[in-house]
Amino acid sequence: MKPVPNKGVLDIDVYVPGKSQAPAGIKLHKLSSNETPLGPPPAAREAALAAAANLEFYPDGQATRLKQAIAETHGLNPQNILCGNGSDELLGLLCQCYLSPGDEAIHTEHGFLVYHIQILARGATPVVAPEKDARTDVDAILARVTEKTKLVFLANPNNPTGTYIPFDEVRRLHAGLPPHVILVLDAAYAEYVRRNDYGAGIELVSDFQNVVMTRTFSKIYGLAALRIGWMYGPEEIVSTLDRVRGPFNLNAMAIAAGAAAIRDRAFLDKAVAFNAEWLEWTTKALEGLGLSVTPSVGNFILIHFPGMPGKGAAEADAFLTARGYILRRVAGYGFPNALRMSIGTEEANRGVVAALDEFLQGGTA
Ligand SMILES: *Cc1c(COP(=O)(O)O)cnc(C)c1O
Repeated sequence: MKPVPNKGVLDIDVYVPGKSQAPAGIKLHKLSSNETPLGPPPAAREAALAAAANLEFYPDGQATRLKQAIAETHGLNPQNILCGNGSDELLGLLCQCYLSPGDEAIHTEHGFLVYHIQILARGATPVVAPEKDARTDVDAILARVTEKTKLVFLANPNNPTGTYIPFDEVRRLHAGLPPHVILVLDAAYAEYVRRNDYGAGIELVSDFQNVVMTRTFSKIYGLAALRIGWMYGPEEIVSTLDRVRGPFNLNAMAIAAGAAAIRDRAFLDKAVAFNAEWLEWTTKALEGLGLSVTPSVGNFILIHFPGMPGKGAAEADAFLTARGYILRRVAGYGFPNALRMSIGTEEANRGVVAALDEFLQGGTA
């Protein structure tokens, strides 16, 4: 006899985060976790440090200041917002509140791994919808909906592919779902997208009882270390998750920094413009080397390596790591021969391109 965890838990492979270690003495360029090279807005850092003066007090369990700042910035009702310890926590809470053993939840073929992990953690069954050219296929998702389906997870844009589907496709997906199924729109990279046909999901959430949108401060706002996410949803779903979350799930530094960050619109514009410039530059430069790059609207790109021996993703990864450029292996996402690169500083982007040029011309680590 020994303690046995719940059904599903031991089917989970532990999430392996992006590496963050360069060889000794070599400058590290961490391009493995889609963090921003620009850091957070200075006011956010100052707010976090000011909050650190009172560490003996519990934080505001309702994260009122942060909710208020989010509500004002996006024109939303604070009642429809729930903050989380990163949006990862909110994805987990959705599974905790709406999935039981035997239920099904759908995610896409190359979808964010946290969905799969959290579905299994509830003893529920992950159902995988194939993608087309590394892009969400709405019909493939709809074809997999059954009476047991409770949740549909869609990262739009998706990580690690960087691809997106237009908002009318998201609407078509929603229209095809029965009303008991919650559509979870994970818009972690929404701020970066510069496409007229894109929508993060706010309008859908406002109009229906079975759609939620999750957002994060970890990516464009540069606050990954503090763990801040939020969900916009119908009051019934928001209040359901609210019952189950930890009473102080956001710490005081996170609340203060998040509220300051989201109010700095000039910072956001600067970050979007910087990313757009270097996303395009890096994509074109890598294509110029003969590599194929999945078209991305996020702050990262998926680089595919040729099949020749010695020129695969594993060898490229070793070659780059030896030079201080840390990218992300994505075999666990179904891309054994690709690397995901976050857009970094100008120095980092130029450095990766130069190193891969050398690698393809025959260099070895
Ligand atoms: C990074 C990321 C998140 C999680 O962000 P946190 O708020 O840091 O938990 C969620 N979804 C996707 C698709 C991401 O890439």
